[in-house]
Amino acid sequence: MNVLVINAGSSSLKYQLVNVEQHRLLAKGICERVGSAESFHKHGLDENEVVIDAKMADHDDAMALVLESLVEGPAKAIDSLDQIDAVGHRIVQGGKYFDRSVLIDDDVIAKIDELAELAPLHNKAALMGIHACLKHMPGVPMVAVFDTSFFQTLPPKAYMYPLPYELYEKYAIRKYGAHGTSHRYISERAAAVLDEPLEDLKLITCHLGNGCSISAIDHGVAVDTSMGLTPLDGLMMGTRCGAIDPAIVPFVMEHENLTPAEVNDLMNKKSGLLGISGISNDLRSVRDASEAGNERAQLAYDMYSNSVKKYIGSYIAVMGGVDAIVLTAGVGENCEKMRRMIFAGLQPLGIILDEEKNRQRGFEREISAESSQVKIIIIPTNEEYMIARDTFEILHEGTDAALA
Ligand code: AMP
Repeated sequence: MNVLVINAGSSSLKYQLVNVEQHRLLAKGICERVGSAESFHKHGLDENEVVIDAKMADHDDAMALVLESLVEGPAKAIDSLDQIDAVGHRIVQGGKYFDRSVLIDDDVIAKIDELAELAPLHNKAALMGIHACLKHMPGVPMVAVFDTSFFQTLPPKAYMYPLPYELYEKYAIRKYGAHGTSHRYISERAAAVLDEPLEDLKLITCHLGNGCSISAIDHGVAVDTSMGLTPLDGLMMGTRCGAIDPAIVPFVMEHENLTPAEVNDLMNKKSGLLGISGISNDLRSVRDASEAGNERAQLAYDMYSNSVKKYIGSYIAVMGGVDAIVLTAGVGENCEKMRRMIFAGLQPLGIILDEEKNRQRGFEREISAESSQVKIIIIPTNEEYMIARDTFEILHEGTDAALA
């Protein structure tokens, strides 16, 4: 079964065509700056990637281009659109309605729209992607996969904020989490690497990229996660501040004369590694600058590792122990220095990094020392495959079809 995985942003449309049974990527690409005069389209696998300047007024135009490039031109992946069996859409906010992926119908579309209040940019963009597919591929089944659904198992003591209860009742203000598809994928893969049932394990999963989140997964069930009502909460990130004293927000608004939208922008786009270092949101640039003696870059680096370390400690307490800590995304998969700093000093908790294994490169792998009671595992995330797999499973419900 070939599934077209769509991740629509407000001015972008990312896609992958995945053959689910063969676990094979057939094509991928991205339409960027959709709606502006500088829109362009990147399509193709690695060395075959082509970049085309292409006028795209909206997501409808972008989808038409995507479908055309899948069946025509030098980087075509299939002979005809009939070879796309289904579409899987990544949706950021599923609110209280969706604790799993679902087949998209009118009711699901209405609920995604209703939930846009909690994730205005993201859910509206996803709807544009859904409508574009409905227009260009009528009759092809579509599945919605939500970033939040994995965290619908959180107990109220973890998802409630200690604010007046009426705010929860009136506006559904609570923790929803994010990156759920990634945490679900790496927890399953970590269990496979450990060769133990997920249901027997206490895991802490760390998605450390430009956006960062960390989750406590107790016997296969998510019990806590660092992102909150929105993906701004929790760890320090590339440009996001993560958790801060909430009293800072009105203070800064008052003293800097900022509107709610401006202070939101400051916390989402001008903070984190970028805000502290003044150099970049990219950890590689911050690392290089700190090694060249830049003190603010060093501070940013130290704060980032400290932020992860504090969550690891608190989630060990939440679960009463941990069997494995799982790392993924750009920083988690690639940055040996950051991993060294995160795990430094955690020997008393039974967490010991193997310096040599930490230096080696590779795919899924264990990097803890033989003597470490807690395993440390790296799993490259694959959210698109998870979306394709959910799509396959929903469309084969009630049949004997199963994936290896
Ligand atoms: P992501 O959002 O998953 O693409 O991750 C982006 C982050 O990963 C950026 O901060 C990059 O600097 C960081 N990153 C990617 N590759 C490396 C690497 N080889 N060493 C250190 N950081 C890296």
